[in-house]
Amino acid sequence: MSQSLYERGFSVGSAGNISAAVDDVILMTPTNSCLGFLDPVKISKVTRDGRHLSGDQPSKEIFLHKAFYETRPQAGAVVHLHSTYATALSCVTDIDPDDCIPPLTPYVVMRVGQVKLLEYVRPGDEKAGDLIRALGGHYAAVLLANHGPVVTGKDISSAVYAAEELEETAKLLLMLRGLPKRMLSDENVVELKSVFGAY
Ligand SMILES: [Zn+2]
Repeated sequence: MSQSLYERGFSVGSAGNISAAVDDVILMTPTNSCLGFLDPVKISKVTRDGRHLSGDQPSKEIFLHKAFYETRPQAGAVVHLHSTYATALSCVTDIDPDDCIPPLTPYVVMRVGQVKLLEYVRPGDEKAGDLIRALGGHYAAVLLANHGPVVTGKDISSAVYAAEELEETAKLLLMLRGLPKRMLSDENVVELKSVFGAY
């Protein structure tokens, strides 16, 4: 799936990282790896408190992933991308920080839910992990200002699909900026959550 994200331009160079939590360990893409060319034997294996067990060293952004696993027990995987449209939206100054990917289509509600915009933090500064922890697990996805999205799912495919849905919705929101548009109503959102459930 990481190769597919790379081939379709959701991740360039060594940007972006993916992890999965399996029992008491986290499997994580290695530092400086490219999502298009992962070597299975180099996948990093660490304990949930970050102790390196095998494979290459994990991505330097592992603290973003750990913060979600610590606060959202239902999260089985985390995807972090610097995908173009979501990152563009993360630089826009007049978006609602509590709902920065508003309910434009049913699928973004079903797959991603409400998305919180987190203030800009220098890459590698573990304060970004503290900001995620402070959300108490109430959000399945966040957008790091001027950086990109961090998206969780119950497993790798759900997290990847949610990251793709977030990216496509960010693209639609930017295409529609300045145009009169109809968003889903609160009733629409409640109906979707009651029929399809909320992750
Ligand atoms: Zn990043």
